[in-house]
This record gives sequence, structure tokens and C-alpha cells, in this order.
Amino acid sequence: MPIAPPQGATVTIRAGRFIDGAGSAPRANVTIRVEDGVITSVDERAPASGEVVIDLSEYSVLPGLFNMHVHSVLPGDGTPFHEWMELPDELLLLQAHANALASLHAGVTTLRDCGGKGSLMFRLRDAIRSGIIPGPRYVLSGHALTITGGHCRFFGGEVDGPEEMRKAARRLLKEGADFIKIFASGGGTIGTYPQFPAFDVDELRAAIHEAHKIGKVASCHCTCAASIVNALDAGTDHIEHCSFLTGAMTVEYDDDIARRVADSGVYVTPTLQTMHDLDSAMVARVDAGTATADERTFVTNARARFATQLETTSRLHELGVPLVAGSDAGWRHTRFDNFSRELAHLVDAGMTPLDAIHAATGRAADACQLGSVVGRLEPGKRADILAVQGDPSTDIAALTAVAMVLQDGRVVVDRR
Ligand SMILES: [Zn+2]
Repeated sequence: MPIAPPQGATVTIRAGRFIDGAGSAPRANVTIRVEDGVITSVDERAPASGEVVIDLSEYSVLPGLFNMHVHSVLPGDGTPFHEWMELPDELLLLQAHANALASLHAGVTTLRDCGGKGSLMFRLRDAIRSGIIPGPRYVLSGHALTITGGHCRFFGGEVDGPEEMRKAARRLLKEGADFIKIFASGGGTIGTYPQFPAFDVDELRAAIHEAHKIGKVASCHCTCAASIVNALDAGTDHIEHCSFLTGAMTVEYDDDIARRVADSGVYVTPTLQTMHDLDSAMVARVDAGTATADERTFVTNARARFATQLETTSRLHELGVPLVAGSDAGWRHTRFDNFSRELAHLVDAGMTPLDAIHAATGRAADACQLGSVVGRLEPGKRADILAVQGDPSTDIAALTAVAMVLQDGRVVVDRR
């Protein structure tokens, strides 16, 4: 890359309320010192004269958030997926950059992309890393793997059989994938079957093994119980959605499987926001009298489906499953600029606001193998920092009042 990326800043931050991202209770009046973008100290010592100070003493200061499940090349404005994917790649790339900026302005400094078209996301990350454009830190899966005719096949990741899985996973890792994402069931793509598994266990295992061989991780999209069992049998590290759809498209929570998820120690991203957004959009169409017969049926089942997903999430949390916050932004009606709503849904599912913040900071960083780099405000970590008005440790809605966002100690948003 010809252009040197911007260097981290050397600065001192005075935090009125300090939330470390490790799940600890908040502290008052904390000073964070940053050198060349890296936190060097966190303590109560007041800044000395001559230090360059960012005064956030009227605000709550916490790590920049991770949105752990996004599709950056999609618009999140309700456009049907298959129609959007007919657009040229150049437009998809520009949409991804707009989504990157919307995320930063909402306090999200890391995006874990769970499927983009072809190599577009690798190129966007190259552009950000080289300083051509501003943007968040990315954790990428590339086009993600799906069966022939499977969910998100328009991204270009159709593969079948263990041999093809092995090769496709190796190609993605060669291109720079941070993790391997596999559609273990169908999904919302027309003509796929979210109520049934997609890959067989030997296929999942072949791709997951390639990630594990070089110390990386794999995640499976699972919307039905059978796909969850397959993913666990194959040794997945992470489950997206974790819904218990049945063949009849109802949801039937299965406690035995939930306990297996808990015992296996895998991370789960419940993606509550995207389900809620889709339901709301469909209800609006029914209320306006513009819904099709299929959409009216969808709404009838949708309310019960969301309530069950909330209960499932609550139960997984009680069982000790490490939940992380990801909204599925980009997909259908879910935007990038209101990610704190996913944390509000997690609170509705029984997490404390501090748990929900942990699920979007320190624990999220661990789930994408960045725990030693970012996600907690402590010495040695990159200074990706969010400041908000109010106290998000008692009222999660405070996360909507973004005052400042810093990346590597550099101010990228200042709304004070
Ligand atoms: Zn998704």
C-alpha cells in the first residue's frame, strides 16, 4: 500500500464515569493516558499541567462498541436482498463505506462482517488501513460459505462436499479472512430453508478444521435446531442467530440443545434487532393494508417468533452462554446507525446494562480474537473509545447520546 495509515495519538482523557469493558462496576473521575494510540495508564491521577487533555468529565467513557454481526455491502433499508445484489460491485462498495461511517458515528469502532460479496470487504479494509478513507476496524469472513442454492448465495460462496469446503476455506484464509463463516441452515434468501439444515457435519467439519489449523475460528449461521446440533458436532466456535425453527416454521425452544450450547462454551450472537426490525416493517405493511397474504401469515407467526427468540436468549444467558451483541445490520430493514437497540433488546432478554455493554466490548473482542488488542480500557490496549451523555450502566438508552468517538486515541466524532 503506498499511503501510510494515520498514526495513533498521544493524549490524556479525563472521564467523569469510566466503564472498562470488562464487566466491572463503573468508576468516577478516571484519567486514561494514551501514547501513539495505545493506552499506557488508567488511574485517578489528575492530568498534570502541559498534558494535552480531552475533558470528558461530564460524560460516561467506555470502549468503542463492536457490532458482531453485519453485512456491510447491504443497505438495511428494506430492499429485497436478491434485488440489491443485481447492482454493480462499485455501488456495493460505496454502500459499505457509507455503512462504515454510520457505524463510527454511532460509537461502533469494530465491525465483524458475517458475509459480503466476493472480495469487496477485503478491499474496503485495505483502503481504511492504508488511510485512503476513514472507517472502523473490521473482522472479516469474506463471502462466507453456503450450499448450492443456499442462503446468501449471491455473495459468491456456493460450495458442496468436504473437499470443496476445504479449498474454499483455504482460499478465504489466504485472502485475509479473520474467521470462517458458514451458513449451516437456510435463511431469509428466497428459495432457501431456514427451518432445515444446509451443510452436513462432514462438510462443516472440513471448513472449521482449516480455520483451527492456523489458530483462527469459525462461526455457523443456525436458524433451526438440527443445524445447531450439526454445528456443535462439527466443532464450531460461534453460533449466529441460534433460533429453534421447526419444519412447520414455528419456534420450539429445546432445553437439551440449549444446555449443549452452554456446555460447549461457544459464543452466540442472538441478532434480536434484525428480527424485531423485520417484524415491525411487516406489521406496518399489514396496518397500511399493503401486505400480501404471505406477509399477513408472516406477521401472525412473527410476534410469537420474536417473543420466543427473546425467551431463548434469556435462557441461554441464564445457562451461562457467552452472548455477544450483533444486529445483522444491512440485512433487510436493519440499519447501521442505531446499533444500541441490539443492546436494549439484550437488556429486555434479562441482561443488565453492564452485561450488555460487556457483550459489545470486552467479550466481543475475545470472541473475535482481538481481546489482547482492543475492547477493554486498560494499559496495552488500543484507544478505541466512546463517550456518551448519561449513564449507560443503568440506562442502556444513554448509548444513543454519542458525544465523542476516538480511534487509536484520535478524535473521529465530536458532538459535545
Ligand atoms: Zn446475517
